[in-house]
Amino acid sequence: MMRVTHCDRRASVFSMEEVGPMEGWCQTSYRVCLNARICDCGLFQYLHYPCRHALAACATASIEWGNLVDPVYKMASVFKVYEMEFLPIPDEKMWPTGYGARLKPNPIMQQKAMGRPVSTQLQNEMDVVERTEKRCGLCRREGRTRQG
Ligand SMILES: [Zn+2]
Repeated sequence: MMRVTHCDRRASVFSMEEVGPMEGWCQTSYRVCLNARICDCGLFQYLHYPCRHALAACATASIEWGNLVDPVYKMASVFKVYEMEFLPIPDEKMWPTGYGARLKPNPIMQQKAMGRPVSTQLQNEMDVVERTEKRCGLCRREGRTRQG
């Protein structure tokens, strides 16, 4: 629940208190500036998208929130990504010579030609305990199972 405590429509600055109905008395205040597109929660300026406090401010002042969405989210911008032509990759012989460090694969990480791959799992104390002691799931006694 959001309660707007201060509203300056001209400067488009709003203060509000957020009351969490589930967390009892958890209450936090936020300042939103719609013109600067910033909020105390930080999401508005980081995501370039109106956060819930900005949306509450818009609702209070009857401001169209869609105008606060950064153009990067608009479909026209998304389609622009594919405007560019993608050229097919030329034959490997045509590739320029590479310089710098040569990378070699880690032989432990490589799969064997036949059979199971080499296990790279690091064993810890829990694995060792689990392997040695088989405890019953019900009574937690060793050497027993739920059925036996
Ligand atoms: Zn916010």
